[in-house]
Amino acid sequence: MSIFTAFPKGVFFPREMKFPYWEKPIENSSVPVVSIVPLLQHAGVPAECLVQPGDTVREGMLIGRSSGSVSAQVHSPVPGTVREIRDIYLPRGVKSSAVVIDLGGEFDRLGKKNRIYPWENLSKAELLATIADKGVVGLGGVLYPTHLKYSVSKSRKVEALILNGAESEPYLSADLRLMIEKAPEIIEGMRVAAKILEPRRLILGIETGKPGVFEAMKRAVESSGVPIEIIILKSFYPQGDEKQIVKTLLDREVPSGGQPLDVGAVISNPGTLFSIYEAVLLQKPVIERVLTVAGGAIRTPKNLKVRIGTPISALVEECGGFLELPEKIVIRGPMMGYSLYDLDTPVTKGTSGVLFLTSREIKSSRRSNCLNCGRCIECCPMGLDPGRIFKLIDHSEFDDAKKDGLMDCRECGCCGYTCPARIPLVQGMRVGKSFVGNKKVRS
Ligand code: SF4
Ligand code: SF4
Repeated sequence: MSIFTAFPKGVFFPREMKFPYWEKPIENSSVPVVSIVPLLQHAGVPAECLVQPGDTVREGMLIGRSSGSVSAQVHSPVPGTVREIRDIYLPRGVKSSAVVIDLGGEFDRLGKKNRIYPWENLSKAELLATIADKGVVGLGGVLYPTHLKYSVSKSRKVEALILNGAESEPYLSADLRLMIEKAPEIIEGMRVAAKILEPRRLILGIETGKPGVFEAMKRAVESSGVPIEIIILKSFYPQGDEKQIVKTLLDREVPSGGQPLDVGAVISNPGTLFSIYEAVLLQKPVIERVLTVAGGAIRTPKNLKVRIGTPISALVEECGGFLELPEKIVIRGPMMGYSLYDLDTPVTKGTSGVLFLTSREIKSSRRSNCLNCGRCIECCPMGLDPGRIFKLIDHSEFDDAKKDGLMDCRECGCCGYTCPARIPLVQGMRVGKSFVGNKKVRS
C-alpha cells in the first residue's frame, strides 16, 4: 500500500520551517458582530446580489446568485440585517462588491443537531445541482466551482479521483487537521464525488512526517469499505500542486495550458470534499471554513473554524493579539500567498490561512542584482528559467516571456524562496501573467 515517491524538482523545507500546527485541534471562532461577505469568492463572475440595505437575512440564506457560465452561489454566514452593500478590495487586488451584515436574530443551524440527508438514491444531476446550490468551490486555492469541475462530459473517462492530502506549504495545517478530525466525513465526500465522476481508481495521496494524519485517514478508509488506494508521498514542496501530484501518482504529464482531466485525473483537497459532505449530507451551504492563524507575531497560533465574512482583525483578537507588530501579513501560505494591508479584509472561501510574520521569518534583506547562480532553474518544478523570464517581464518583453513558458508557471514560489539575490520572482510572474491575460482580453 505504501509507496514513497516524488517529482524531480522543488524544495525541501528545513526543520525549523516544519511547524507542527496540525497538532492543534480545530476551535470554533466567535461569530462576528459584523460580517463582510464578498460576492466574488470564486473563479469566474461575481454572484448577483439578491439583498439590499435593511433586509433581514437568515443563517445560510442565499444572498448572491451564481451568474454567468462560471460563478458560484454566496450565502449569508449569520442571521442579521444588511447594513450596506459596498466595494472592497480582496488580497489579490481584485475589487468585489460585498454584503455587510449586522449580526442579529435566531440561528437556524448553530447549536442544532445535524440530520443526515439520505443521498444515496440521488442521481448525478441532482448531486451536482445540490453542490452548485450550496456554493461549493475548490478550497485548494483556485476556487473553481466544484459542480463545473465535476461536470465531465460522457466522452471523457475519469481514470482517477485523487484526494490531495499534501498540504505542503509551511504553517498551513487546516487540511491536515481536518483529515485528523473529520476523516470519515471526508471519505463520505469522496463517495459522493465518486458517484458523480465514476472514476476507475480512487487515490489518497498523503505526505510523510505528519503524525496522526495518516493513521486517521487509514482508519476511516478501512472502516468505510471504499476501495481507496493510499499512496504516501515524500514531504517535498510543491507536492500538493495539481500538476505535480498527477505526475507523482499517475506518472502522467498534464500538458502545457491543460488540466489534470486531460490526462484522466480529477483532484480535490480535503476541505473541498468536506464541503461536499456538508452540502449533500447535511444540506449545509458553505458559510464557514477551517483556516490556520500562525506566524511568529501572533500570540497563540490556532486552527479555527471561522464564519465567511469575519474580518481578519477578529482573528487577531481570537488568537490573543500580537506578540510584536508583524512585518508582513500573508493570506494563505508564505510561498503562494498574497500580502494583506487591511485588517478589515474578510475571510472568504479561499482563506486557508492568515500569517503574521516577523522580520526574522521573512528574512528581510535587500534585493541585489541577479547572480546568475541558476538556483531558480534547479528548483523550478515546471522546468522554467525563472530568472530569465523575470528579466523579460522587467523589460516589458511579455511576448518573449510567454514563449519562455510564463503561462506554465504555477506560482509555487520555489524560485523566490531559493533566490539569494532576493529578487521577487513570483510577484514578477504574476504581473507578467496578468499583463498577458489583459492583452488577450483586449485583442
Ligand atoms: S517560475 Fe513559477 S513554477 Fe517555477 S519555481 Fe517559480 S513560481 Fe514555481
Ligand atoms: S536564483 Fe536569483 S540570483 Fe540566482 S539565477 Fe535565479 S534570479 Fe538570478
